[in-house]
Amino acid sequence: MAKIGFIGLGNMGGPMANNLVEAGHDVTVFDLSEDAMATLQAAGASIANTAVDAVQGAEFVISMLPASKHVNSLYLGDEGIAAHIPESALVIDSSTIDAQTARDLAVALNKHGVRFIDAPVSGGTAGAKSGTLTFICGGDAADIEEARSVLGHMGKNVFRAGEHGAGQVAKICNNMLLAILMTGTSEALQLGKANGLDPKVLSEIMLQSSGRNWTLEVYNPCPHVLEGVPSSNNYEGGFQVDLMAKDLGLAKDTAENVGAKTPLGDLAQSLYQAHSGEGFGKKDFSSIFTHLEAKRSS
Ligand code: NAD
Repeated sequence: MAKIGFIGLGNMGGPMANNLVEAGHDVTVFDLSEDAMATLQAAGASIANTAVDAVQGAEFVISMLPASKHVNSLYLGDEGIAAHIPESALVIDSSTIDAQTARDLAVALNKHGVRFIDAPVSGGTAGAKSGTLTFICGGDAADIEEARSVLGHMGKNVFRAGEHGAGQVAKICNNMLLAILMTGTSEALQLGKANGLDPKVLSEIMLQSSGRNWTLEVYNPCPHVLEGVPSSNNYEGGFQVDLMAKDLGLAKDTAENVGAKTPLGDLAQSLYQAHSGEGFGKKDFSSIFTHLEAKRSS
């Protein structure tokens, strides 16, 4: 079992670190939230006073932070950990960040003799808890192979999309599609509801018809069509609206860099930004359903 420094214990990182502890790894954690660290300590992890302390002697360093600026500051900021990571270690960043930041980080860490892969995830908080995430990796094939020994305790699929940054590009393509599917599914359910249909019945019909998709099947945005999903828990937990808006911004930048056309991605970004602006930024992204509610229902 490996010695792992794990930084970022939020909705995703908390359960991911917990799975590593349960698998028997020697895990030292750090987060700005003391509550998050206390939860992991109770599960059997060691807690560190600083991020630098968390990576002492680590064979693997894993980070799961909100966005590019947090990742940059953790590794390369004034109190950055880059210079404190053992040379033999492999850094795995699972945050969703822009591809260029991942490429630049790979180069910067390499100057310290440290290897890096970008390994953003798909599967949501349910996948993080159940250890069934999909890791979408970019970097050297040998490093990704080495990472499987720890990624396999947090997920069931490990893909190599290509060189450094490619994991982030693939992740952003997936999340742009997810946002489009979630807004489309919400529109369809609201349209049916406003015309007097029972959203549960409409969901069953569409699940057996050509509108079937992941959001309808396992993450229905209409409350109480499915239990155990954020929509049935006042849109708490899950994947925040602000994080989806961030990912759609990354998709837009990634598209603009190469002249790709993403009109539906751009529209989804405007909807998520407007929803956040109305005070729903910390709610789960399936709450876009409420943003699309009909003004007049039957
Ligand atoms: P979160 O906001 O719940 O957790 C982020 C954690 O990072 C918090 O606990 C915060 O205290 C901590 N943190 C921030 N800066 C820190 C620092 N400098 N040092 C130590 N800790 C720090 O976010 P999340 O939902 O866990 O998402 C994390 C990443 O995973 C994001 O990039 C997100 O886009 C991506 N993601 C999330 C989901 C999801 O369903 N929530 C799914 C796939 C990918």
